[in-house]
Amino acid sequence: MSKGHDRHHERHHGLSLYGKDLVRRCSSHCELCDAHGVKLSIYEVPPIPIEPDLAHCTMICDLCLQQIEKPKLRDNNHWRCLNYSIWSEVPAVKVLAVAMLNKLAAEERWAVELQEQLYLENDTLEWLAKVELP
Ligand SMILES: [Zn+2]
Repeated sequence: MSKGHDRHHERHHGLSLYGKDLVRRCSSHCELCDAHGVKLSIYEVPPIPIEPDLAHCTMICDLCLQQIEKPKLRDNNHWRCLNYSIWSEVPAVKVLAVAMLNKLAAEERWAVELQEQLYLENDTLEWLAKVELP
């Protein structure tokens, strides 16, 4: 087995320790679109720390995850959920939501309007500057 594989395994194990905390935090709802009763996975908001860090973790559904990772599959209407998630009190969720909003603003007027309402703290802006989504 390669070292890379081991490291991946350890990381996965490290993240799984956060599972319970995350499920409690999101009360089993997708932290981006609020979907309930669906499978949720941990998504680490970039830049991904060397050691797994709860502060970088979000719990999101497969639909959100797939559309973040594969822009070609993106259904812009799904992302109207950002109306709520950009106001999240969880910094990682907020950063991820705003990063997606910035992507959508290139194509959607409603996203631009939402951007205009947004007020971001300096530490959110600093983090956001380091986030690059596909
Ligand atoms: Zn979702």
